[in-house]
Amino acid sequence: MHDDRISTNAGLYIHVPFCRSKCAYCDFYSITDHARVDAFLEALSREMEHHRGFAPAFDTVYVGGGTPSCLTADRLADMLRQLRSAFPVVPDAETTVEVNPGDVDTAYLRRLREAGFNRVSIGVQSFDDGILATLGRRHNAREGLDAIESARRAGFDKAPVLLRADPRAGHSPAA
Ligand code: SF4
Repeated sequence: MHDDRISTNAGLYIHVPFCRSKCAYCDFYSITDHARVDAFLEALSREMEHHRGFAPAFDTVYVGGGTPSCLTADRLADMLRQLRSAFPVVPDAETTVEVNPGDVDTAYLRRLREAGFNRVSIGVQSFDDGILATLGRRHNAREGLDAIESARRAGFDKAPVLLRADPRAGHSPAA
């Protein structure tokens, strides 16, 4: 029996495999050699062209990592533009990008909002500077709060904040 509550659309995830440094607890794949960013973006572009016209339509798009905010806002905007050109994406698709505090300000996030991202996921992890240092995070609590405020100013009304309760616990989401 067909269940109307189940979407027949698909979700698209793009993994940006770069970070500025590696956090102590993280086992997601990413590298800190940014000399390979151009090669990655060219390969991703070719891959999108190779699969141009894929169906069914995507109703969610998620650009994660790694740390997508290692890339300039213009490069993320170009990525989303090509993606929408190559694939059917429903008009109101939830379109998320992960960012790290310390990488972003209001201008950067506004550029992403204008490009079509409607949800930003902020890797705050903790509002305790001691825990952030233990985790090996590059930002401090103040920068986490600033990133949340910048997202609000840039027009993101959907900005989940990734928090981690205990640095000795299991794995947490990336970014
Ligand atoms: S937690 Fe996020 S920022 Fe840290 S190494 Fe993993 S992917 Fe990179």
